[in-house]
Amino acid sequence: MRRLIPQAVAVLLTLFLLAPTAAFGQAPAPLVELDVRGSPLIVGAGEPIEATVTLAEAADLRLRVVDFDGRTVRELFDGPREAGTLSRKWHGRDADADRVPKGPYRILATATAMAGGIAERAEAWVTVADHAIYPRQPGFITVAVDPGHGGSLSGAVGADGTREADLNLDIGLRLARMLEGAGIDVAITRTTDAFVNEPPRDRTGDGVIDDDDELAARPDFANLARADLFISIHNNNAVNESVGGPSTYYFDERPFGARSARLARIVQDEMVTALDEISEGYVPYDHGTLIYPYYVLRGFDPPRLRRPTQMPGVLSEGLFLSNERELRYLKRPAVRGRMAVAYYDAIAKYLARRGAHVGYEVIAEPAGTVAAGATVTYGIEVRNQGNETMRDWRLGVAAFPAPTYYIGRIRRDALVGEARIPRLEPGERATVEVQVTAPAPGGDWMLLFDARDREGRRAAEAGIPMLQVPLTAIEPPGPLPSPGVLPGE
Ligand SMILES: [Zn+2]
Repeated sequence: MRRLIPQAVAVLLTLFLLAPTAAFGQAPAPLVELDVRGSPLIVGAGEPIEATVTLAEAADLRLRVVDFDGRTVRELFDGPREAGTLSRKWHGRDADADRVPKGPYRILATATAMAGGIAERAEAWVTVADHAIYPRQPGFITVAVDPGHGGSLSGAVGADGTREADLNLDIGLRLARMLEGAGIDVAITRTTDAFVNEPPRDRTGDGVIDDDDELAARPDFANLARADLFISIHNNNAVNESVGGPSTYYFDERPFGARSARLARIVQDEMVTALDEISEGYVPYDHGTLIYPYYVLRGFDPPRLRRPTQMPGVLSEGLFLSNERELRYLKRPAVRGRMAVAYYDAIAKYLARRGAHVGYEVIAEPAGTVAAGATVTYGIEVRNQGNETMRDWRLGVAAFPAPTYYIGRIRRDALVGEARIPRLEPGERATVEVQVTAPAPGGDWMLLFDARDREGRRAAEAGIPMLQVPLTAIEPPGPLPSPGVLPGE
């Protein structure tokens, strides 16, 4: 196991990569291929986005920019074209040369061969924004986006039947596409009006599959993606119909509570700014940041919650469906688009000024099973995805017996391996070789890789998910060695 990609992520990747009818697998070479550079396009300052189309043979080609809602905002090419490449620049303006709103856009190439055949297409999401996100290495960053509710759970329902779940999903998808266009990995808990806990599993281990398992699926999802941040998107409801305005929740009783508080403050400020811009004189009430132990925010709390979110997170309540005016706003695509931009800007601002943060990928691991007590070598790519130089950091490895899914609790187990991490500047990576003593007794184990700074502070306690790698150890002949760690959850 290198990186666990939960099913919904795989679905999303499929959606992103295969939805254009570009050929894959054993199909013949595609008629049209598309390469895009220059995204995100920074409003007012950036280089244009450059789209390069490669045609395998002469074709009728159309190359255009389409917004999230499917409207063509700019034609870049339309006509017959010989085989070969064609490049076009897009400066973020529509057909009237006006600047387009910030948000996600699709570069869409469609081609029909002169020789005949069906139209083929290739597409890529690009982003128009005020900021790039972690421009040093955007590909290091993973953001978990969680559109609240879904399936038979509607959340709040407006007087006209509008469902909160649908609004949350629309805003979440806009945000996901913007992040994708900015080169960020997105782990979105759902991409359709469906449950996240699919196929249904008893995640809490209480013998029934119920709403708790649907909640538990969300931290599981973000943790397995080892996301940098967790953003749960909601809209609100109140008995008093005059109540309105955004609020952002976090939970402070976590080892990384201060980081969540900072993220919440930024999200709330960006949301207030966004709503001031679009609300035509109406000033939504600013409820500020609020502390509440929502399931997706709070810590280890068995038996219902054994695997809490392991990274800074917020639950944002945008506007009130119970407020007639705010419901009207929420139903406008431009408003939902601007709310997605607010989340995007908040993520960019948070990541631009956070301190140390480290990421891991498995580069090399022992093949198959290993003998308990044997020394084995792991090659782990360590990434500095924060904004401070990592000096004198170490990579520690602990072992935990018989895991379910993964270990959800930050524990203090004895180390079975440790190695020095070379000095890393922000945006740099290095492969670290760690010698690990395979745990005894034999059986299924989870190895937990967690970096420590020069003061010995653990990255996991700063809201940096550990790398978890399963290992099966086989008992060698001879007397049983004593267990090195205590059993637990
Ligand atoms: Zn909700």
